[in-house]
Amino acid sequence: MKFEEALYIYNGCKKKVFIEDISKIRNENPAKFRDEIIGNLYCPECHSPKLSHHQCTGKPDYFAKYKKQDHKEGCIFSYNEASQTIVSKILNDENRERLANRLKNFLISLHTPDKIQPHPLVYTKTNSKNIKKSTNQTNNNIVINYYLPRKRITNKLSPEDIKETKIYYGDVFIKWKLLQNRYLLSISNTKNEYICSLFMSSNVYSYIDNKFKSDMKCSVAFFGKLTKSQKDGKIYYNININHSSEIQFLEIE
Ligand SMILES: [Zn+2]
Repeated sequence: MKFEEALYIYNGCKKKVFIEDISKIRNENPAKFRDEIIGNLYCPECHSPKLSHHQCTGKPDYFAKYKKQDHKEGCIFSYNEASQTIVSKILNDENRERLANRLKNFLISLHTPDKIQPHPLVYTKTNSKNIKKSTNQTNNNIVINYYLPRKRITNKLSPEDIKETKIYYGDVFIKWKLLQNRYLLSISNTKNEYICSLFMSSNVYSYIDNKFKSDMKCSVAFFGKLTKSQKDGKIYYNININHSSEIQFLEIE
């Protein structure tokens, strides 16, 4: 299991940290990385297993838990990843507000060390099954939890990341442009490096919160499947946003 966030506890400080920030410290300040970071990163969800930072070439860096340490019971990382069937069921949730709230709460959870319950990225499946018939116990509910696949867009995209429908997110810079009848939302990292392009109809655009309709830094989460295209030797990642509930923004400093 790879992580892109961690809980950092050091010297009275307790906060969520993101993979790209730790990668930056490791590259630019190895002494600080060695003295203040190593051994002080924990699972962002259950705060139990310690995490190590893995530096990679050609693919995104990641955190992974120490081999001999385990997640606490009920940590979402002890669940199985939701199948693409479940994922598309959630993406097409008839209750669009519930979908929007999942994404919104997920963004909030990324920026606070506190837990948000129920976890916005957990899907709970309840199967009514007749088990233990011999003891006359019928209709026992079997509850299985799954976590929804996700990817931090500010930590490089690899071919693996665009194979499936998932939740993409990160703290980014957004820029809007009207192209014929569609809106293009260009997303770059805070160093102004291109990440991906989102397209939506003017109708979908009209439901976007006005606060986020200017070029600005913010946190964003969107749900779908990126596709890759190439033009003049440059790679583009694109996605169509079909409903305003499939994208959420959060103000950040
Ligand atoms: Zn955990």
